Amino acid sequence: MYCPNCGAEVRSGERFCQNCGAPLAAQQAADLSAALRAAREFSGASAAAAPMEGLSETPSLTQDFAVTRERFNLILGGTLLWGFLMNVLFCIFFGRAAAQLPYGAIMVAYIALAFTGILINTRSSKPIWSFIGYNLVVLPLGLILSVLIADVGSEAVREAFQIASAVAAGMLLLSNWKPETFIRMGPCLLGALLLTIAAELILFLFNRSFVLTNVIATAIFCLYIGFDWARAQQRPCTADNAIDSACALYLDIINLALRILSARSRRRN
Ligand SMILES: [Zn+2]
Repeated sequence: MYCPNCGAEVRSGERFCQNCGAPLAAQQAADLSAALRAAREFSGASAAAAPMEGLSETPSLTQDFAVTRERFNLILGGTLLWGFLMNVLFCIFFGRAAAQLPYGAIMVAYIALAFTGILINTRSSKPIWSFIGYNLVVLPLGLILSVLIADVGSEAVREAFQIASAVAAGMLLLSNWKPETFIRMGPCLLGALLLTIAAELILFLFNRSFVLTNVIATAIFCLYIGFDWARAQQRPCTADNAIDSACALYLDIINLALRILSARSRRRN
């Protein structure tokens, strides 16, 4: 592979460019996470949202149950917060140790666990299994974040997440205001995301700059936050659908933060 900053050839799995010193982990993590998000879309499309029939009358972990719209959003928000809290705790307690692990192994663990988690999350209609799947997506990201904190500094990572959460809050407001507009965007967003992933692969092979694809991907993930919120509000109000929606929104916010981070680490060099 080639350094997206200076174009020098770097061995795959290197965290820094030998030529210019640019940190490479953020761009690699951003590319992988974009592929994860697209995979979730396909997995979710073939396993439809949990229907309202045959639901448990009482709250249950092993059988899906109906909730009010308020509860639905409470579960969704709580699941999202749980994910980010787990990431913060992981970085505080295991960050230093995790950053010492071989980088190639971290990336492989991230792909394998997160893909498995996405499959479990979208396929299962039992709240507990969906939550376990969600955690398989969330926990390995702690490894990636630990590496990023070691390479670009905790200040930069925190700033990227602050910007991403501010943007996410703005997108939620827009999505509440014009939900239909966001719902209609869905197929275009997936098409644009797949094209961007393909373009990044090609640019990667031909050793070209990632600046434009990174800007486009950033815009796609901003819009995806609005889309996933609108889609969540149209789904039947069940605990399982709330957890599944939280998983999609979590991936969107992570993707947005990783894009901001990789743009920033490139600019700085
Ligand atoms: Zn370089």
